[in-house]
Amino acid sequence: MIIPKANKLSTNELNEVEAIASDFECSILEIQGHNRCVYAILGDESREVMFKRIAGLPFISKVDMIESPYKLMDRRSGLADHRVQVGKTEVGKEEPFFIAGPCTIDPKNPNLFLESAHAIKEAGAHALRGGVWKPRTNPYSYQGDSKSLEIILQAREETRLPIDIEVMDSEQLKLAFDAKVDVLQIGTRNALNYSLLKEVGKLSAGSDTTVLLKRGRHVGSPNEFIAAAEYIVAEGNPNVMLCPRGTTPHLEGYRNHPDESITPLLKNRTWAPVVVDPSHSVGHADFVKACSLAAFAYGADGLCIESHIDPSKGIGDDPKQAIRPEKLKELIQSCQAVWESRYLP
Ligand code: PEP
Ligand code: MN
Repeated sequence: MIIPKANKLSTNELNEVEAIASDFECSILEIQGHNRCVYAILGDESREVMFKRIAGLPFISKVDMIESPYKLMDRRSGLADHRVQVGKTEVGKEEPFFIAGPCTIDPKNPNLFLESAHAIKEAGAHALRGGVWKPRTNPYSYQGDSKSLEIILQAREETRLPIDIEVMDSEQLKLAFDAKVDVLQIGTRNALNYSLLKEVGKLSAGSDTTVLLKRGRHVGSPNEFIAAAEYIVAEGNPNVMLCPRGTTPHLEGYRNHPDESITPLLKNRTWAPVVVDPSHSVGHADFVKACSLAAFAYGADGLCIESHIDPSKGIGDDPKQAIRPEKLKELIQSCQAVWESRYLP
């Protein structure tokens, strides 16, 4: 990882660094953070001479050799002061951050989504979620519809809230990116789909797009989760948020095993904000508040939460796990109190 003295290397300076790297069969990737650029060395970077030559250039502040499987995500990396933004909000900076909205947009009933969007804004959320294409366990269940992309774009226009949608393949990714969707969600099923993660990072490199990477049910250690995020950052997009959303269920009664307690481990090892999804963690509207409060007690920066103006009329997960916007408003206020008194290691 190369950190220049100025915010960015000039073209000539970058050429000089690249010339040294290519002598050692390595190449350089520019990673644009909000405050400055850092440069990753791609290839076998264990050559001391290369490090010394680059570090000796007058415009280089330092060259870090971080011995970590996730050297860009690591807290000690040059991205440690990178701040992830969604719209105008810096995630986890001054207040807890909330993404909220229905699980699934019903294309036959756009008004339900639009009304939910306005109520969710009113409740205090910073961003709006809504499923356009859905990963369903049952192949005969509703799979989503591209028409719903238009509906969530209209909701953004009306509410001015940034939007979050899940993408599962290259085609959906391109449609969402071209529509300037603010947050691309990679869901639990694709948490370890390295080709997709790379594609997301490459397409969104240098843009303001943020990626919400959910922890797969099948993702084991915290490091395996962080390394998945590294795939996105290593392609040039450092705007990544980590989202615990429950793992394989062990407690009969919850949909998944709530894993918000992973938060301090992630925060200790990386600089990325942690945005917990309490809705999929517990899978039942009545238990969402407890999981949300716990998430902030563990030091989370935000939540991604399912909320619908009338869950009984919703599709996908909404009838069972979405909370009404009135409840969301109350929940946001309670979470703000925990945020202020939270324990941070
Ligand atoms: C969702 O957010 O609606 C969703 C399907 O999430 P997950 O990938 O966590 O199951
Ligand atoms: Mn859902």
